[in-house]
Amino acid sequence: MLSIKNLHAGVEEKEILKGLNLEVKPGEVHAIMGPNGAGKSSLASVLSGRPNYEVTEGSVMLDGKDLLEMSPEDRAREGVFLAFQYPIEIPGVSNINFLKTAMNEMRAYKGLEPYTAKEFLALSKEKQKLVEFDAKLVNRSLNEGFSGGEKKRNEIFQLAMLEPKLAILDETDSGLDIDALRIVSRGVNKLRSDKNAFIIITHYQRLLDYIVPDFVHVLSDGKIVKTGGKELALELEEKGYDWIKEEAVS
Ligand code: ADP
Ligand code: MG
Ligand code: MG
Repeated sequence: MLSIKNLHAGVEEKEILKGLNLEVKPGEVHAIMGPNGAGKSSLASVLSGRPNYEVTEGSVMLDGKDLLEMSPEDRAREGVFLAFQYPIEIPGVSNINFLKTAMNEMRAYKGLEPYTAKEFLALSKEKQKLVEFDAKLVNRSLNEGFSGGEKKRNEIFQLAMLEPKLAILDETDSGLDIDALRIVSRGVNKLRSDKNAFIIITHYQRLLDYIVPDFVHVLSDGKIVKTGGKELALELEEKGYDWIKEEAVS
């Protein structure tokens, strides 16, 4: 599904990703961990096509298409979802209207008719139920005055509705409380299937107690320096990252 080869990218003159390789197949959940400043969020930014980031070498293919050639909008239409890419508050645009616009744009891109009001309502109800999303939040202005937990619920609801092929969740450095961890992990576990894949960027080993990844990668200094199974996350929790850096240079 996703094939990243020898990716070099940076901002301004600074190289941040320095030859990163990653292969993701349908049905897989990949966790990316690593020390602060390693380039984890930069990877998410490059994949979603955030401006400022310049790719200087390497390739990123999504189902055989060159992702780097696509606009951020087309990447989204092709099924790449950077979760938490709309943490901004948009007063006046309701949550559900935002989703309806986004989803109908995607349908148009695929040559499909827009949802009728009735179809969309039914779909929204079904997904609300699936991810236990509070009906109260559906018509609220996008993220306006949402608590941290409500933002997470909302993000999971967006995932449920948009059904991306590849979802990238960057948990950032902001503290996730145990409630938020549960919301995210229950949502991901409900939504994971053999047709989609998740890249979960986290430095919370705890999150991986709930979402069992197929692979755990350590990103350090712009490269993936170690890959293992779920047990690697536990080892990292216990031993930190320094031993891997030493292993990587020796
Ligand atoms: P991580 O998410 O692993 O903590 P980041 O991808 O956020 O790491 O950052 C990697 C490195 O790139 C850091 O040294 C950071 O300071 C730098 N960096 C990230 N974004 C920018 C930017 N817009 N301008 C300059 N440097 C940046
Ligand atoms: Mg960081
Ligand atoms: Mg980060």
